[in-house]
Amino acid sequence: MANHAISVTMPPEQPFCPLRLTLDSDALVHNWRALDRLSGAAKAGAAVKADGYGLGAQRVVQALAGAGCAEFFIAHMAEAAPLLELVPANRIAVLHGPLNAQDAAYAKAAGLRPVINSLRQAQLWLDAGGGRCDLMVDTGINRLGVPMADLGDPVLLGLQIDVLHSHLASADQDGPQSDLQRRRWDEARSHVPHARASLANSAGIMLGPDYHGDLTRPGLALYGGVPCAALAGEIRQVARPEAAIIQVRDVAVGESIGYNATFTAPTAMRVGVIALGYADGYLRCWSGKGAMLAGQERLPVLGRVSMDMTVIDLSAAPQLAEGDWLTVDYALPAASALTGLSQYELLTLLGRRFPR
Ligand SMILES: *Cc1c(COP(=O)(O)O)cnc(C)c1O
Repeated sequence: MANHAISVTMPPEQPFCPLRLTLDSDALVHNWRALDRLSGAAKAGAAVKADGYGLGAQRVVQALAGAGCAEFFIAHMAEAAPLLELVPANRIAVLHGPLNAQDAAYAKAAGLRPVINSLRQAQLWLDAGGGRCDLMVDTGINRLGVPMADLGDPVLLGLQIDVLHSHLASADQDGPQSDLQRRRWDEARSHVPHARASLANSAGIMLGPDYHGDLTRPGLALYGGVPCAALAGEIRQVARPEAAIIQVRDVAVGESIGYNATFTAPTAMRVGVIALGYADGYLRCWSGKGAMLAGQERLPVLGRVSMDMTVIDLSAAPQLAEGDWLTVDYALPAASALTGLSQYELLTLLGRRFPR
């Protein structure tokens, strides 16, 4: 009997994705170590809210926990779940605190450390059984936190406070506000029993030892953001968005490119279409301003960024072809200066189509 070979081609499990977001974990760890060193006698923790500033909280926590970071800060209670398998629950402080009884019961059951931001939250936490928690004192940002005037309230005496926090409104600027907040934070520390104290975010660390307490809470600078000049030499870029060329075309002189014809070719040009658009967080403010990097070459964005695509000039790298990968020029301080977006926005904007 003839032996008929059966040829079965298995479909691939995943389609090709023309976007990727590279997280340089060596740079991330380098930045945390630098911030930990700059925190002096205090230990640096890590703000990993908003999915690790958009870069993937699990990857970030894994890398930093491996480097010795022991304290993590999230905003929403629901951000804790993916991290519970990576670090002990009592090392995760939830900055928004318990929003209602359900939230308080969840934090209690999971063993998280809620940050208590009001007398009402203090009561919610005690009603849920209480236990170790943090306290946020508002020293002038007027956002979340127990007002200085409420610090004598007896409900706070029922709390078992690990970290007494406050948060600086203007740490990234010169001016009197940080000093005023620091003095109020010192005053709060002398009124409310607590184990440890914390005030500084990334920029606050650079204000000096008076701002360090026992624990600092950097976020932005971990991820490559440079909020103040003093940090410029210390911080390495962490996030590198990349996009593949999905079409190469030749454009004749006088032809326009993209929506509303905002760019007209001054000469015959070779251009590339990349699969990156404003739906991916590459907002229209990059139109005519941004660039992709191919080795040493900078390939400028031509015309408008559209939802799923951006057109770039390939003149400097005519060898590039469909399927080739380019790195988005996304160094945060320069990108912020160019677009007017904050470095925080640039990180957290990167869309869900980037596999993380
Ligand atoms: C987000 C946040 C931080 C981190 O701030 P960066 O400016 O990103 O370093 C620290 N503390 C609190 C309370 C925060 O909300």
